[in-house]
Amino acid sequence: MTIRVGVVGTGMIGADHVTRLTTQVVGAAVTAVFDVATERAQQVAAATANASARPSWEALVTADDVDAVLIASPGPLHPDQAIACIAAGKPVLCEKPLAATSSEALRVLAAEVAAGRRYVQLGFMRRYDAGYLDVKAAMADGTIGEPLLAHAIHRNATVPDFFRGEMSLTDSLVHEFDIFRWLFDAEVAAVTVLPVKTSPLAAEGMRDPQIAILEMAGGEVITVESFVNCQYGYDVRCEIVGSLGTVSLDNPRTTVVIAAGRRSERVPADWQARFASAYTRELQGWIDGLAARIVGGPSTWDGYAATAIAEAAVTSYARAERVDVRLVDKPPLYTEGGPIPDRAVSVIQR
Ligand code: NAP
Repeated sequence: MTIRVGVVGTGMIGADHVTRLTTQVVGAAVTAVFDVATERAQQVAAATANASARPSWEALVTADDVDAVLIASPGPLHPDQAIACIAAGKPVLCEKPLAATSSEALRVLAAEVAAGRRYVQLGFMRRYDAGYLDVKAAMADGTIGEPLLAHAIHRNATVPDFFRGEMSLTDSLVHEFDIFRWLFDAEVAAVTVLPVKTSPLAAEGMRDPQIAILEMAGGEVITVESFVNCQYGYDVRCEIVGSLGTVSLDNPRTTVVIAAGRRSERVPADWQARFASAYTRELQGWIDGLAARIVGGPSTWDGYAATAIAEAAVTSYARAERVDVRLVDKPPLYTEGGPIPDRAVSVIQR
């Protein structure tokens, strides 16, 4: 069985996903693409066997030769596009963030709850990374005792000119917000963003680095450094401290060079290099689920919760104070199988 996928947004990650779906993922074919940059969409379609560019994202979503949709357009467009997929009865893999604001995210949640089943999987691909899966296993099997706190760093070499200080929280740290909810199987109760001495290389008006402190509902505390102009590469690491020991996630080890009195190894250049296999596993998992008529993985609830944390973090950034994260009651659709619904699944009828 081949799942026919339509891709909305053929920019950086959308084009990458088209390549992955057609060259690495088993059981999928990209039949349709759309981008407002029509030339970009046409180029991607021309390079993809049996795919064609469509005149609008609405036409793509409702096309008969599209079974499922991958949304890789800019974040603020995700709610309308995801809701249209739900209305059309098409499962959707929606890149992060689910929405720019928590009220927008709640619109998607309401549409899915009204439909009575899950359609949306969020693009929180770190949950498919071998390193994070190992960390979760060590936290779950008692190896480090009771997890108490964590330290994390999230560094990018540089960011584009349009990047602003808030985007460190809404675009970059949103991955950290999701992964720590998932690792600790708990919601974030409050967030504080601390001002740090700003790098002389940060863009004008931008505060970089920043420290976010997450207080989990269970009392655990997580410190996350965000530094998006670190210059030297892409560096995502964390250490979980438990009552009996710690578990650390380092950069995947590649080649070690020993020469001229030094021992050195490469740092990934960017997120594409660091998380390449996580993206493939994410997409393969999505397609395998759809072939079994199941939608699993990070849910609309996870997308809403991460957006609500980012929103609280932006408020904390602006006011320099601790901000509570307030969530609506979790609908039963997202509670099957555990407190964090990566195991909650629904069956799509086609
Ligand atoms: P990008 O390179 O700017 O690509 C977005 C594309 O969508 C652009 O070609 C843009 O065209 C197009 N677009 C604008 N309006 C559209 C519409 N109404 N319908 C369809 N396409 C439209 O951005 P990107 O880096 O690929 O990011 C896309 C999304 O993926 C973002 O939400 C981002 O946060 C997410 N992302 C996730 C990860 C991850 O690790 N999971 C990594 C990277 C990005 P114009 O350029 O003409 O506006």
